[in-house]
Amino acid sequence: MDKKIALVTGASRGIGRAVAAALAASGCHVLINYRSRQPEAAETLARIQHAGGSGELYPFDVADVAACGPAVAGIIQTHKRIDVLVNNAGIRHDSLMVFMPAEQWSQVIATNLNSFFNVTQPVVKQMALQRRGRIVTIASTAGQTGVEGQTNYAAAKAGVIGASKALAREVAKRGVTVNVLAPGFIETDMTAGLPRAPLLAQIPAGRFGQPEEVAAAAVFLCSEAAGYITGAVLNINGGVYT
Ligand code: NDP
Repeated sequence: MDKKIALVTGASRGIGRAVAAALAASGCHVLINYRSRQPEAAETLARIQHAGGSGELYPFDVADVAACGPAVAGIIQTHKRIDVLVNNAGIRHDSLMVFMPAEQWSQVIATNLNSFFNVTQPVVKQMALQRRGRIVTIASTAGQTGVEGQTNYAAAKAGVIGASKALAREVAKRGVTVNVLAPGFIETDMTAGLPRAPLLAQIPAGRFGQPEEVAAAAVFLCSEAAGYITGAVLNINGGVYT
């Protein structure tokens, strides 16, 4: 198979599903990671296949370092390479800091920040050997501006921005690019319960974004054409001031 191999974490739903579909449409064989929602992940794969693309399911918990190494090793054993990694899996669990139990802090940091290390480290080793690769991580406006009730989430998202900028410098000579997308409010399960009117008032574009609008940027950053873009943070937020 001469298709590029692309691993997308958290691709059972939302932004990850749209990124997986768009990468498949651009010619990648997409490895669809998720944590627990197998039917939704199978639906992502079915949509890709229906559109003429290819992929397969790779469930593992990105917060669990002991699970990620073997999972990535299995991918490399099967496919001999990994060309694209999109670190998308994430959760939010909001609370004002004064009321936040330590576990709530740790869980969000583990899923949104430690996952960057857990998945990217074994992948980037392989990309460095290949002397080519594309890594894109989904951060958030919250990691740039801070949002009340999201100290845990904002810390994790700011963390992946810093880590990506540092890693970009480490692997630039190896032909590996490392970039970040920073979405604002995107229509997914994660934002489904939020009060709309006060949020829309903060967005110059006057609407939430669609997952496909994040996916289009991910595909570009993962393309050959984006080879000189690394360490960048691209806002996809309808003009929200960061
Ligand atoms: P969703 O809640 O719709 O989907 C989250 C995805 O992440 C699911 O596929 C879920 O898998 C997966 N996931 C969660 N935890 C783990 C884990 N431990 N291991 C593996 N997979 C996991 O989220 P969105 O699509 O909205 O968000 C995607 C990313 O974009 C996140 O990083 C989020 O922080 C970020 N983002 C989202 C914004 C928005 O407005 N929606 C704005 C800015 C950033 P499963 O289905 O199995 O639970």
